[in-house]
Amino acid sequence: MKRVALLGATGSIGTQALEVVGAHPELELCAVAVGSRADEARRIASEHGVQHVSIGGDPPLDDLVRASKPDVVLNSVMGFAGLPATLEALERGIDLALANKESLVAAGPLALAAKERGGGRILPVDSEHSAAFQCLEGRAEETVHSLVLTASGGPFRGRSRSELADVTPVEALAHPTWNMGPKITVDSATLMNKGLELIEAHFLFDIEFERIEVVIHPASVVHALVCFRDGGSLAHMGYPDMRVPISYALTYPERAATPVEPLDLASGLILEFSAPDEDAFPCLALARAAGEEGGTAPCVLNAANEVAVASFLDGQLSFLGIPDVVERTLSTVETGPAETLAELVAVDAEARRVASALTRELVH
Ligand code: MG
Repeated sequence: MKRVALLGATGSIGTQALEVVGAHPELELCAVAVGSRADEARRIASEHGVQHVSIGGDPPLDDLVRASKPDVVLNSVMGFAGLPATLEALERGIDLALANKESLVAAGPLALAAKERGGGRILPVDSEHSAAFQCLEGRAEETVHSLVLTASGGPFRGRSRSELADVTPVEALAHPTWNMGPKITVDSATLMNKGLELIEAHFLFDIEFERIEVVIHPASVVHALVCFRDGGSLAHMGYPDMRVPISYALTYPERAATPVEPLDLASGLILEFSAPDEDAFPCLALARAAGEEGGTAPCVLNAANEVAVASFLDGQLSFLGIPDVVERTLSTVETGPAETLAELVAVDAEARRVASALTRELVH
């Protein structure tokens, strides 16, 4: 029996994780955390016989992890709020099935140090990182030439910068291949999602930024590739369905069955790849630059992006205002090394304050 603490149980990943847990008798839910939907939390808790429940951060997620004694923590909390639970799980050597991007983006060095001390594992849940993890497993580091992350390109793929000036939240939320929550769907449309994934991949796989490439791949069938020094590459392929990486992480290393069918190549599957348009989608380059700068720069990038995307979803900030706010926040907030969670919390708050002021300026 494997005890699972599910943090962020009512989001897109959380809902699919409940399906995966329900389908596998060897997985037992021992804790549930939700942001605000108390009724849903109670329904899930009674359905799965769960004692440890957190609603809106009460009790705090790190306390919930401590009290419920899980074998694996699935962290699918949205945003910076997911960080303390990540650090708690890693510090205690509990396997961390990680869907919260911000944990590694904002606090990569801190999280890795906690993992080192705790001796547990990070099992990536994001489809690209799960794919890369699987292609890299058992390979000697020196044989790896580079990593390729694929991006669907989102709903605005192929548009020029000027054609993006007045796109609406409704248009941005119409993602062609993945069905996800609103924040990440907008991040997919701006390519910030891939930028955050680039930073995550750097920390997860200890690979330099210049050896991580991003390509546009509209079908979302190839999730990542690892290129080796002998010219060979391994790709992870499959229909875009998050139940696959969720199940892989929760049942690792057993790779339990899922209801997802293997690829039907004979049906005429066509795989296209192209370079991203960094002029129309500047978030990708902003993320790469922040990642290369390191220290608190990725934390600032992430905070500014959360503020800008919330304003865009609210019908205030324009789509192109998102990279604008992120870029200006990065040049305003002083960045430096990040050694403690308290420091990061302070930088995150400062970046949000600056980004909010810049957003208000751009909106009025
Ligand atoms: Mg992804």
